[in-house]
Amino acid sequence: MATDTKQTDPVCGMKVDPSTNLKAEYNDKEYCFCSKQCQQKFQNDPENYADEEE
Ligand SMILES: [Zn+2]
Repeated sequence: MATDTKQTDPVCGMKVDPSTNLKAEYNDKEYCFCSKQCQQKFQNDPENYADEEE
């Protein structure tokens, strides 16, 4: 479990500041992205990226 305040971009794995505007919601979870490209990739195929809990 991540204990820091940064969110992880599920597409590229980068740490992202949660105050970013680059966000998407999927399955009631909010995801943050480092860039519009990552946000778009996620939105094109969210299940490919969102299922990363373990
Ligand atoms: Zn990214």
